This record gives sequence, C-alpha cells and structure tokens, in this order.
Amino acid sequence: MEQKTPVTVAAGDGIGPEIMDATLRILDAAGARLDIEKIDIGERVYLSGNTAGIAPEAWDSLRRTKVFLKAPITTPQGGGFKSLNVTVRKTLGLFANVRPCVSYHPFVETKHPVMDLVIVRENEEDLYAGIEHRQTREVYQCLKLITRPGCEKIVRYAFEYARLNNRKKVTCFTKDNIMKMTDGLFHKVFDEIAAEYPQIKNEHWIVDIGAAKLADTPEKFDVVVMPNLYGDILSDVAAQITGSVGLAGSANIGEHVAMFEAIHGSAPDIAGHNIANPSGLLHGAVMMLVHIGQPDIAQIVHNAWLRTIEDGVHTADIFKEGLSRELAGTDAFGDAVIERLGQRPETLNTAEYPHEGEKISLAYARSVDSSQIRKATVGVDVFLEWTGGSPDALGKRLESANGGGVKLQMITNRGVKVYPGGMPETFCTDHWRCRFMTDREGASMETAEIVGLLERIDGLGLESIKTENLCTFDGEPGYSLGQGQ
Ligand code: NAD
Repeated sequence: MEQKTPVTVAAGDGIGPEIMDATLRILDAAGARLDIEKIDIGERVYLSGNTAGIAPEAWDSLRRTKVFLKAPITTPQGGGFKSLNVTVRKTLGLFANVRPCVSYHPFVETKHPVMDLVIVRENEEDLYAGIEHRQTREVYQCLKLITRPGCEKIVRYAFEYARLNNRKKVTCFTKDNIMKMTDGLFHKVFDEIAAEYPQIKNEHWIVDIGAAKLADTPEKFDVVVMPNLYGDILSDVAAQITGSVGLAGSANIGEHVAMFEAIHGSAPDIAGHNIANPSGLLHGAVMMLVHIGQPDIAQIVHNAWLRTIEDGVHTADIFKEGLSRELAGTDAFGDAVIERLGQRPETLNTAEYPHEGEKISLAYARSVDSSQIRKATVGVDVFLEWTGGSPDALGKRLESANGGGVKLQMITNRGVKVYPGGMPETFCTDHWRCRFMTDREGASMETAEIVGLLERIDGLGLESIKTENLCTFDGEPGYSLGQGQ
C-alpha cells in the first residue's frame, strides 16, 4: 500500500465545517492518500484569549506535516485580533499566493467565456509589512517594503510555474512610473529573470491600465505576477469576473510549508444551511494534491468536478434558471462529484496533471552579493512636525542649523518641494521633510554629524519626528528627488 501523506486540516468557522466535510469526502472517495491531523483555528481560539487565532500546539502540527488545508475563518470584530492568514503566511514564509481564475462557460454565467489565467501574488512584503505610524497630529504613514530577495523569489516562482504548467506568457504589473525605487526594483528583477526564460513571452503593464485590461480582456493574460497589494485586489477581481468568487481556490507556497484554501470567507450569512458551494475549497485541495505528489488523484477529482458543473448540478450561488439542471446543497453537490469520479468533462477542457511532474524548486540563492555593494551616506532627511507659518519661514529658520559640512538642500511637504522657491498654491500639512546634504565631496556622513544636526534643530525649537539616511549604492542615489526638485 502506498504511503499516506500527513496533512494538517482546519475546518474553520461559518460554512467552513460544511465545505470541509464535502471536500474531505470527495478526496477520500477519490483515493487520496492522506493522513489527516485536525487543528482548531479561528473564532473560538480568538475568543478564548489567543489574539492570533491559532493555538501554540497547532504550529507543531503545521511544522510536522508542512501541508495545511484550511477552511475560511471568521475574524472577530474589534481591535486586538490579528489576521490569522497574515500571521500564518508571514510566520511560515509563504511567499507565493497562487490563484488560478478560470471561467466555465457556458455552464457558469460569465462575461468572459475564454478566461484561464493564474495570478501569482507576492505574499509577504509591500504595504503588508504592517509598519504604520502616526507621525504628527495630521499625518499617518505605512511603510512599503520591497526587497530584492522577495522580488527574485516571487518572479522566479511565476516563471517556473509557467514553464512547468505549459503557460506561454508571464505579465508583470507595477506602478514604477510613480514608485521608481520600490516598484522599479520589482520590474527590474522581472526583466532580469524573464531574460532567463526566452521560451516564455513576457510583458509589463503599469498596474492601472493593466488592471483595466485584465477586467476587460482577461483572455489576453496567462500568468500575472504582482506585488502584494495589487495582487490582493486584482486576484479578487479576476476571480469574480470568472462568474463567482465562490469557485476559486488558492495556494500559499513557502520554502518549507504550503497552505491551501478557498479564496472566499466564512460566509456567516449562509452558515449551517447546507447551501454553501464547496468548490473553492475543493480547488484548493486539488492544488494540494499536486503539491504533495498525488497528481493522479488531483486529476480524477478535478475532472469529476468539471463534469458535475457541465451536468448542471449547481449550488445556489451559481444556479441559473435555464443553465442549471439541479439545485444542489453542499452535501448533495459533494455526492454528485463523488458519483462522477472517473468521468471527464465533455465540453470544458479536461484537467491534466502530469504524473511524473517536475516540482518547482523553492531553494533560494541570492543573485547579488550585497556585501560587495559600496554604500556611502551623503545626507539625511529630517522630518519635522511644525505648524508655525509659511515654508519660507521654516526654511530661513532651518538654514541656521547648517554647519559642520551639512547644508539644507530643500524642504518638501507631502513630497512636493516648498523651499526654496515653492509655489504659494501648494497645500501644506504639519509634516515637513527637510533634506540636508553633506558638502564634503566623496565623504560618508558620520552618525555624530547627524546627531549634531538634530541637536542644532532641537536648539531652534523645532520638533524632529524621524530621520532617514540618504545613501548611495555603488555611486547610485538610493533616494528619490522631491517633486519639483
Ligand atoms: P465572504 O466571502 O465570507 O462572503 C461574501 C458573500 O459571498 C456572502 O454573501 C456569502 O454568502 C457568499 N459566499 C462566500 N462563499 C460562498 C460559498 N462557498 N458558497 C456560496 N456563497 C458564498 O466574505 P465576508 O462576508 O466579507 O466575510 C465573512 C467573514 O469571513 C469575515 O469574518 C472575514 O474576516 C472572513 N474572511 C476569511 C477569509 C479566510 O479565512 N481566508 C477570507 C475572507 C474573509
């Protein structure tokens, strides 16, 4: 008898237990070789005083099995509760979120009959680092962190996914016309890695027009790779326009552990009524079967599901008079898939998972030896909270902090240069970025010089709220210019 693969399973909240039950029954009937360990996550765990929604012993199971099939959970309202998904993704380093979005025309109503794309979303970085501050009475900030290793891992994953799944094109979305450094890095790494895959087409779109094209002509896309925030939003858009968010599953892949789930939430409005669609979770489970080396079972399950949809056995969320033949509850839909195990779709494309498939290598080696990069501090941005008058008044006052080889270069307010030579129309808040540069050609600024500058600014009765060093890397400036500079 073939060995069973240990898998951690959480039934979650709301419709979670119902759709998990249907999913596990289908997997069992299809002959999936699973050794299931159940863990408790979600509302009950949160309300028992655990702010992360997952008990400490559950981590032991996840570390042991390295595979997690997770039903949706309810995050309790109110402060203090941390998102379980974000915690699990970040703690276990699940850097890639993979979400296939497929339409099932003519069996599920959709405006986009030939859509079949996969969104590969970076899962750990970007604005989701969760580093936010209220810096002044009027201004709040959220740090957007993009790293070279993070970009390399996700972009390579997207190209490897395309190669192994016989996809023809990888598209990248960023906003690098505005965020030249952070999104610029993502785009640059995309171009570098794309060059290693000449057999796969590649293209880049600015995310705004890219998103418009994705919503309008999704059939033109194949694999789409994006930083975290754009991926979060656009993977929901892509899933929705296939006809229903209730159908899509997703995989969260890390070097050590992987998590599989439906993309929808716990749907408390329909929980307990046996009417929820288990298809999203089932699709997550199909991806899990491929991941754990049971593509034979994945293929049997996926094709039985396609046949069920073709036969018009539909749950309420996708049921349409004239298109559907039988309105099925969660259990009955599960039974209908089980009855069709071994059958294939007649109209829709058959699901094929190569049995001796090569797996995507997740081992990561840095492509750049960062210890060899020459770094020099050439200035410092000092941020002030100030409401004392015009930008010129602030500029004149700050000029007297010049000295010791450090000189005020400009002041910006919300990124726009307001001193010297600002425009009277520019709206100003209480948050000023004051850029001081060293005038010692070729020398790197010392920390003591920055501390000395802060003391002089403090002596002028001005309140500094943070500093940001301005560095060059191999002579290239590692900071953006002020708008209007
Ligand atoms: P939701 O996805 O739970 O529900 C949105 C709508 O879609 C509801 O009308 C619901 O009935 C319907 N729906 C969702 N899944 C369905 C299915 N399988 N079959 C039929 N209809 C379905 O989103 P929401 O209402 O915004 O969130 C509810 C709860 O879920 C919240 O507590 C939220 O935090 C949580 N949530 C969890 C996850 C997760 O665990 N991965 C993801 C999103 C939301």
